[in-house]
Amino acid sequence: MNTIDLRSDTVTLPTPAMQQAIYDAELGDDVFGEDPTTIRLEEMAAQRMGKEAALLVASGTMANLVCALTHCQRGEEAILGDQSHTFLYEAGGISALGGIHPHTIPNQPDGTMRLEDIAAAIRGPNVHFPRSRLICLENTHNRCNGSALTPEYTQAVADLARERGLRVHLDGARIFNAAVALGLGAAVLTRYVDSVSFCLSKGLSAPVGSLVCGTSEFIAEARRNRKALGGGMRQSGIIAAAGIAALEQMVDRLAEDHDNARRLAEGIAPIEGLSVDLERVQTDIVYFGLADGRFDAGTLVTRLADRGVKILQVGPARFRAVTHYGISAADIELALTALAETVNEF
Ligand SMILES: *Cc1c(COP(=O)(O)O)cnc(C)c1O
Repeated sequence: MNTIDLRSDTVTLPTPAMQQAIYDAELGDDVFGEDPTTIRLEEMAAQRMGKEAALLVASGTMANLVCALTHCQRGEEAILGDQSHTFLYEAGGISALGGIHPHTIPNQPDGTMRLEDIAAAIRGPNVHFPRSRLICLENTHNRCNGSALTPEYTQAVADLARERGLRVHLDGARIFNAAVALGLGAAVLTRYVDSVSFCLSKGLSAPVGSLVCGTSEFIAEARRNRKALGGGMRQSGIIAAAGIAALEQMVDRLAEDHDNARRLAEGIAPIEGLSVDLERVQTDIVYFGLADGRFDAGTLVTRLADRGVKILQVGPARFRAVTHYGISAADIELALTALAETVNEF
């Protein structure tokens, strides 16, 4: 039986082109700045994001941490959404390792934070207060239905930040999903922010790696912070080669994942006992839930897995399914049949 794994777009395996690129990669010692493949990927990433420079790091978590450490001193404050990946899923790294004070405000279902909430969270000068230094956005927003933030919203947040002397970091782990969904170049979405991180290892299917992008000065300092975190890598062209293939070959096809996610959501909607908010499905992520207490979420996940379809339980009555490279429209039909059969068994 073939497994249809919809738990995450991180389960994607490197493409044959990536494996060949890894095999052929020209290598050097990147801690000496001598790995040509890493340099090429960093230049390409900076260009795609419309920034001066970029830095390859091990993961999205490390990318966000390196950026926070580069923007903030100890005791300074970062304003971020209460549903943000950095607040929920990065092991508290910004406070544990950076002494950075997280100030959370509510994320709306579309992944934004209200401008008035952000403005109210920014502290004035007062000996009692931490200094507000950074605002963090997430695009697409993982917990908020994979929503894409618009350039207009991003600019409005950046304008507010600039007015109040703060900087903006964008967690763009899935920035290319946002770009494809909105029909815009990624640089249009990153133009207003001071730094952006994005992942190679999710929908883009590379095995490892994330990029941090910003000004040359920011990246020089980020490189130092990466080193301090133990993230200096030597022949990292092995990783970068797959990243180059990802940027060249795997961005435009994300539209297919978005179509499949929509197909999946539209197929879930009529299944009695399940509920999905079709309006919110914009990219590769589908959240859905139990419409009533007729059955147990954990049991549903287990029984569905027995039929060869894996999804993630993300709450007492909430599930996540993510489409990606390797999942076809036919797989979505099979997954829907399995889901309907599983629900009918209860
Ligand atoms: C996956 C993800 C990260 C972290 O990336 P890792 O490579 O898993 O460390 C950060 N932000 C968002 C929004 C993500 O989805």
